[in-house]
Amino acid sequence: MILSAPAKINLGLAVRGRRPDGYHDITTIFLKISLADELGIDDTDNPDITVHCDDPAVPSDSRNLVHRAATALQPAAPGRGARFRLRKSIPVAAGLGGGSSDAAAALSGLNTLWNFQLSPAELARHAAAIGADVPFFLLPEVAAIGRGRGDELEPLSCPAMLSLVLVKPPVKVSTAWAYRQLHLTLTDNHDATTILAHHLESGDIEGLGKACFNDFESVMLAHFPVLRTIKKALTQSGVYGVSMSGSGPTMYALCRSYDVAQEVAQTIRNRDCRVWACRTWRSDSVGGTGQH
Ligand code: ATP
Repeated sequence: MILSAPAKINLGLAVRGRRPDGYHDITTIFLKISLADELGIDDTDNPDITVHCDDPAVPSDSRNLVHRAATALQPAAPGRGARFRLRKSIPVAAGLGGGSSDAAAALSGLNTLWNFQLSPAELARHAAAIGADVPFFLLPEVAAIGRGRGDELEPLSCPAMLSLVLVKPPVKVSTAWAYRQLHLTLTDNHDATTILAHHLESGDIEGLGKACFNDFESVMLAHFPVLRTIKKALTQSGVYGVSMSGSGPTMYALCRSYDVAQEVAQTIRNRDCRVWACRTWRSDSVGGTGQH
C-alpha cells in the first residue's frame, strides 16, 4: 500500500491561554496542501515494526510518529507487524505538520491492512493521543477549523483551488520556545478566524489572503530578520496575503493563480531557503513544484 501524506498550513492561528494539561487553547484554520510525503506500508507476519526513512534528520526508531501510530494499534492485531518506507518531501520541524500527517496515514493504512474497520471516532482517539494536529489529517475534507488543542475539528468547504508559495528558511524553531515568546492577552482572534472561514467557504481568495494572520508572526519576525526579508520578498503583485504556518518558520504567500505562484517562487532566489509553488491538496494532485 502506498499513501500520500499531505502537509498543512494554518490560514489563521489564534493562541489563547495555557491549559492545565500544558497545551494552549488555539483557534486555527487548517488547510491540506499538495506538498506531500509518501508512505509505503507492507503488512508482515512477524510482530516487528520497522521504519525506513530517506531523511537522515528524521528518527527511524520508536520516536518516529509512524512507529508510534503502529504501536498504538498493534495490541489489537497480535502477531502482526508492519514495514514502513517513508519518503519525506515535507521539511521537518517547519510548521507544516509533516510528522502528524505521516502518523495519520499510518493509522488509516493499518486500519485497512490489519482489517480493523475502526470507526472514524476510534481512529481520531488514537490520533489525538499521538499529537494535537494528527486528527485533522484523518478527515476527508481539505480544510477545517481546529479549536481546543487543535483537535476539536469542524470541517470547512473549500470550493476554490488555492495557489501558494511556501518559503522555508534555514531557521530552527522549537514550538515550546515559540509559545514562551507569546505575550498572551485575554483578547483572542476568534472573530478573525470566523471571517477567514467565511472567505474560504465562499471562495473569496482575495478576502482570504487579506485576512490571514498568525499570532506567532510578530514575535518570530522580531526575532528572525530573515523572516522579515522573506515577507517583504513575497509581497508582490498578484499575492493576496503573506503569513506564517504554525509556529514557523515556513512563510506562505496566497496567490491569484498557480501561474503567479510559480512566478513568485522563481523570484525568491535566496539560496539558503527552500521554495515551493503548490496548491490545495487533492488526492490526484500530489506534489509541489519545488526548488532547494
Ligand atoms: P507541527 O506543525 O505539527 O508543529 P512540524 O511540521 O513543525 O509539526 P514535524 O516535521 O512533524 O514538525 O517534526 C517535528 C519533530 O518530530 C521533529 O523533531 C522530528 O524529529 C520528529 N518526527 C517524528 N516522526 C517524524 C516524521 N515521520 N516526520 C517528520 N518528523 C518526525
